[in-house]
Amino acid sequence: LLVVILGSAMLFSSFKTGDKKDKTEQRVEDLLSKMTLEEKAGQLNFVVGDLFNTGPTVRTSESDKFNEAIRKGEITGIFNIHGAAYTGKLQKLAVEESRLGIPLLIGADVIHGFKTVFPIPLGEAASWDLTAIEKSARVAAKESAASGINLTFAPMADVARDARWGRTAEGAGEDPYLVSLITAARVKGFQGNSLSDPLTIAACVKHFVAYGAAEAGRDYNTVDMSEYELRNTYLPPFKAALDAGSATLMTAFNELNGVPATAHTKVMRQILRDEWGFNGLVISDWQNIWEMTSHGYAQDNAHAGELALKAGTDLDMMAEIYLKELPQLVKSGKVEQKYLDDAVRRVLWLKFKLGLFDNPYLYSNTKTEKKQVRSKEHLQAAFEVAQRSIVLLKNENTLLPLSASKKQKIAVIGPLGNNKEDMNGTWSFFGEAQHPVSFLEGIKKYAKGTEITYAEGCELYSDSRAKFDEAVAAAKKADIVVMAIGESAVMNGEGASRANISLPGVQLDLVKAIHATGKPIIALVSSGRALELTWLDENIPTILATWSLGSEAGNAAASVLFGEYNPSGKLPVSFPRSVGQLPLYYNHKNTGRVYEGDHSEPGSERVYKSRYRDVPNTALYPFGYGLSYTTFKYDNLKLSTDKLAPAGQLQVSIDVTNTGKYAGEEVIQLYTRDLVGSITRPVKELKKFQKLTFTPGEKKTVMFTLTPEDLAFWRADLTYGTEPGDFKVFVGPNSRDVQEVSFTLLKDGSVKYE
Ligand code: BGC
Repeated sequence: LLVVILGSAMLFSSFKTGDKKDKTEQRVEDLLSKMTLEEKAGQLNFVVGDLFNTGPTVRTSESDKFNEAIRKGEITGIFNIHGAAYTGKLQKLAVEESRLGIPLLIGADVIHGFKTVFPIPLGEAASWDLTAIEKSARVAAKESAASGINLTFAPMADVARDARWGRTAEGAGEDPYLVSLITAARVKGFQGNSLSDPLTIAACVKHFVAYGAAEAGRDYNTVDMSEYELRNTYLPPFKAALDAGSATLMTAFNELNGVPATAHTKVMRQILRDEWGFNGLVISDWQNIWEMTSHGYAQDNAHAGELALKAGTDLDMMAEIYLKELPQLVKSGKVEQKYLDDAVRRVLWLKFKLGLFDNPYLYSNTKTEKKQVRSKEHLQAAFEVAQRSIVLLKNENTLLPLSASKKQKIAVIGPLGNNKEDMNGTWSFFGEAQHPVSFLEGIKKYAKGTEITYAEGCELYSDSRAKFDEAVAAAKKADIVVMAIGESAVMNGEGASRANISLPGVQLDLVKAIHATGKPIIALVSSGRALELTWLDENIPTILATWSLGSEAGNAAASVLFGEYNPSGKLPVSFPRSVGQLPLYYNHKNTGRVYEGDHSEPGSERVYKSRYRDVPNTALYPFGYGLSYTTFKYDNLKLSTDKLAPAGQLQVSIDVTNTGKYAGEEVIQLYTRDLVGSITRPVKELKKFQKLTFTPGEKKTVMFTLTPEDLAFWRADLTYGTEPGDFKVFVGPNSRDVQEVSFTLLKDGSVKYE
């Protein structure tokens, strides 16, 4: 961590302090001094390429107008285009035919792989495997950088606790600690050791901030939240990404406490710039600046531009307001020139750091592109991450693993059974629909001699039951049914919130019809969010969460079904029993009307509890949950001391034994609870975990070290630190099935917020 902090500090230090100027800084200042107001405004104008062509302000990349804009220096960069040859052509235009020859940023939403598609981020998060996740981002960087891209709009660091919110799919779930670690791993994967390496791309952590807390899980919706909640839950993953060196950051669509995030001076000037010292580039989200007029915060475009720039939004994505309004705003004195200059400095700085001024074609090398894109090694990496992302939710009667050599007939049934396109999942612009391995293909490959049949059963979200009979007939002829059900790629992601989070269309009815045949069912449930699976849980013996697994979906799922890989994934989000429980997350607060049985309540049954009349409060499958083909026993939880001194540390140990007959991996999770606080504290908080491999019968004593830093939080007076008192430590295979011990923290202290 220290190295990373030093690294990012070094990157921006001279820039920040204005001390002796380094070479890059001199080059930036030199160039800045030659620029007209219009050229400066042009450097803040970021436009989409021809992948989208959706609005009146959008220029198409092939049009003369677009090329003309590059020549005139009206565009700083283009996003969501790709191809070494094509981007090279555009760079040439910018470098050779614009007055100052400033190269272009080429951005893209490289969210989970590029042409080699990895599992959606929520799926990858279920691997709890930071090395694999970092590698996934490395591969995505290599492929996209070789195709001319130098900046990705990822990772998404938004904590998501409401499964209705479609963008849950793009993040790492509900827990700030897990999301922080995963977000940082992704930044490191994208950026590697140097931004100017032709096989790395700049990261852009998004969406700043609290976008995941949209009211009622409806995308873009209002957020109103206390500063405690903001600092304790929603900000840490952004801080982690910046500490890992993220070169850029994107603002959010939502308003926060009455102020659109894109003009939120407090979070951007005070927290991001002053407290955290971030001096990288801040990019608005799509037309965010313009949207402030709809929010009812800006009177008109000029006002919106003024508010956004002053608050610290450097780059205007797709609104073209900076381009059109900033020169006049500066001339009229409404906006001081220093705001404009600072924003332009940051863009130029990034372009220098990316190596574009030294070689504008660094990222546009057709030979490298051919070698990198969809290479064997990359597909293997995607396969391995996909295996690790699968979560075994239920395995009654140990139906799994299947034996490939056993003579048995398998019927693959369901709308996702023979489906390639949806395996890519949301945000996979670059992964072609024909590439992914379908579940059917994967199962056929692994099942060898076994007879496999397939029936679609129904479409993903139509109401028609016309294909039920054929599916029922296929089930009747089979020994085992593998049902591939869930969400299509467009049912989650941006603008894809759902008020109901059950299986779409008539899929549940299809499952019921197949269930009525009495044949054993294995359900592969793909989704970009936690789904409501209560009926399935009550009736279907074997259930796996298979998200959208990417290019190698079918191979990864089949390798798990046939026991080549023992599932090791753990849920990064709580699966509710009912949509009515949302938002639902394990690290909630207690009410005065305790429901978790932490201590006995006074009075009688007539005391109303904080509960629903119809559904328990608990998750169906809790955060951190996931089974294996083997079993693990946890015992002998011990602390090295039950008193933790302010500068001391505490060893937590527990014995974990593989009590089953398969080798397997287990994620051992440690949670704490601060029993009394100056503001109330969550009932559990993830603080540590280890993913370890166990051979059958193997026992390991697993050790964790806890320090006061691990217990710090934003306290009642909005300082960061610890408070003395009693704590609990919980260790277990998920957030629910834990063992606990207690200790006392001896003295409070402020802890450096790093
Ligand atoms: C999304 C961003 C994305 C951008 C560019 C927006 O609608 O919110 O996450 O990076 O589009 O495609």
